[in-house]
Parts: sequence; C-alpha cells; structure tokens
Amino acid sequence: MNYRANIWAIHELGVRKILATAAVGSLSSNFWLGDLVLLDQFLDFTKSRPQTFYEGGKQGVLHVDMTEPYCSAVRRVVMNASEQLGLPVKNGACYVCTEGPRFETPAEIRMFQRLGADLVGMTSVPEVVLARELGMCYASIGMVTNEAAGIAKHPLTHAEVMESMKVLSVKVAQLIQATFELWTPSQSCLCASANEEVGKF
Ligand SMILES: [Zn+2]
Repeated sequence: MNYRANIWAIHELGVRKILATAAVGSLSSNFWLGDLVLLDQFLDFTKSRPQTFYEGGKQGVLHVDMTEPYCSAVRRVVMNASEQLGLPVKNGACYVCTEGPRFETPAEIRMFQRLGADLVGMTSVPEVVLARELGMCYASIGMVTNEAAGIAKHPLTHAEVMESMKVLSVKVAQLIQATFELWTPSQSCLCASANEEVGKF
C-alpha cells in the first residue's frame, strides 16, 4: 500500500481531519470480539514502509511529536456521538502494527502482550504518522474482528475477519454518520502545528 500517496492526495483535496477504521485482533481481556475501540497509542513493528514525507535535503527532516498519536479532540467527538447513539465505544488502547500480510505467531503475540499492546493490526502505521506530518488530525476506530493467535482456540482465517467485519460495519457506519453530524471544521488541538519545525534545522 502506498501510504504516502494516499495521505498526500487526501491532504491535497483539503482534508484536515481523518477518521479511519481498522480491523484488529485482541490481545487483551479488556477487548472482546465485536468491540469498537478508539486507539490512543501504537507500537510500530513494521519493517519496510516509508515513514516520512521529509527525507532530508534542503527541507531537512522532521522529528514529529508522537506524544498523542491519535487526535484526542476527534476522539472526543466520536465518544460524544457514541453516547448519543447509545453505542458503546471504548476509548483508549495500544495498537501494535505488524508488517503482515501473514498473521502473527503465538510467540509474537505473547511478546506484544508483555510490551503492553492491547490490539494488533497491519494498517495504522505509518498512516497516522504521515497524517500528523502534514498537520492533519487522525483518529482510528478499531473493530475487534478476531482473537489473536494463541488466544483463539483455532487457526486464524481471513474469512473469520471478514464475517465479523460484516456485522461491525453497520455499527461503525452509524457511528461515523453521527460523528460527522457533530463535526466542526476547526482544529482545536495541536495536530495542525505538528510540522511547524520543517526547514528550521
Ligand atoms: Zn487534532
């Protein structure tokens, strides 16, 4: 997937806030099949994905701040929408991003659990980083579609994930619609100023 092309194109269209969805496996007893969870931290275990728009030269590099990788202002709006709908959403989970496309081994899942990961997926990084580099807000709704390897009592299949997605996608569509109704264009957060230091070093 060309993450840079996608994020650049979205930015060029004038988009300043992204609400993404991600199918995730659960590593934690706090998150169950069918849960909707707003990510708030990530661990990056990707291996070969370009992670930045700022590759040096005249422009220099950008050491972009990742204290709060997923915009808390956007997450707040999603939580308000979830309350209005009466559709429970859990706010805050650490997502570990793996390279894929294979699923993880049980040994890797045990390692990720020890490192503090709650959910596992293959897509959120570097999307979230690139959005921040361009000053866009980014939040992601994790849809728990399966239990991770070694936790599930059976081998993982893509079909299982797709089946869970079918059920969850109706709920997520309602949540996104309700969020957009509460959406305002202003960025009342620090995301827009994330790339102010470009070219200063
Ligand atoms: Zn923001």
